[in-house]
Amino acid sequence: MMHLRVLQPHPNVLAFYDGRVPGYRFASGSNWVDDGALSLGIASYAIIDEAEALVYDTHVSIPHAKAIREVLAARGVRRVTVVLSHWHLDHIAGNEVFTGCEIIACKRTAEHLSEHRSAIEAGAYEGPPPISPLVMPTRTFEGRLPIVIGGLTTELLQFNIHSDDGVVLWCARDRLLLAGDTLEDTVTYVAEPENLAHHLPELDRLAGLYPARILPNHGSPDRIAAGGYGPDLIPATARYVGNLLSMKTDRARRNTPLRDLVAHDVINGTLEYYDGYESVHVNNVARVLVA
Ligand SMILES: [Zn+2]
Repeated sequence: MMHLRVLQPHPNVLAFYDGRVPGYRFASGSNWVDDGALSLGIASYAIIDEAEALVYDTHVSIPHAKAIREVLAARGVRRVTVVLSHWHLDHIAGNEVFTGCEIIACKRTAEHLSEHRSAIEAGAYEGPPPISPLVMPTRTFEGRLPIVIGGLTTELLQFNIHSDDGVVLWCARDRLLLAGDTLEDTVTYVAEPENLAHHLPELDRLAGLYPARILPNHGSPDRIAAGGYGPDLIPATARYVGNLLSMKTDRARRNTPLRDLVAHDVINGTLEYYDGYESVHVNNVARVLVA
């Protein structure tokens, strides 16, 4: 079952949003679709120009991906190119539905997927459900890749934030940043604590694009529908990462609830507090202390 909502943050951008629905679970028992994605809310995006679309992530399941293709076909899209923001399962589970399309990823994403392919297909990597067959990227790049959709030129840029294979989509014409999981509201999900200190200069590099609007894959559906976040989401993320790193020595701060830790950025409107992130924060703190 799905609660997929089609939002339109900008005239040429659609967001396919599911999750943050009280009492709704995609499957019974613990599984990565509910516990890693729908509980926090997840969007994938399409940028449409003329009869072409760039789909940024294929969502959490085959039914979600099919719904995306149907919406695009109904809007007259004839040619679809897929870009993967990174290799985590909630972003690539619908790849199979885009068989026959070009699926672009950075080289590191393709490496992660091939390394874990058999476990992912067996439902043994993050547990169930399996993604089988796992359809792999058809084209890879490193660093930077310009992409033309219809008459619109955009570019893919690689960042080591959240995961070492992060790919953001930058539309310079509109100063619009599709951020993948490099930025999240309420806070970043620490998947690679060993790289956290390296994420800070990378966040600076991201801020150097000077985006006007930011669309993260995990965030508030209302804020996404209204056009996305302001550029302050980047320094707010850096402040949170700095807070996490300081907890290695600052014991008192370790037990501060997330609501208090980010209060300043919630009051000034940069972030929207969502209580599903309290458990993400507890896990983030634990991972940072172990690393
Ligand atoms: Zn994610």
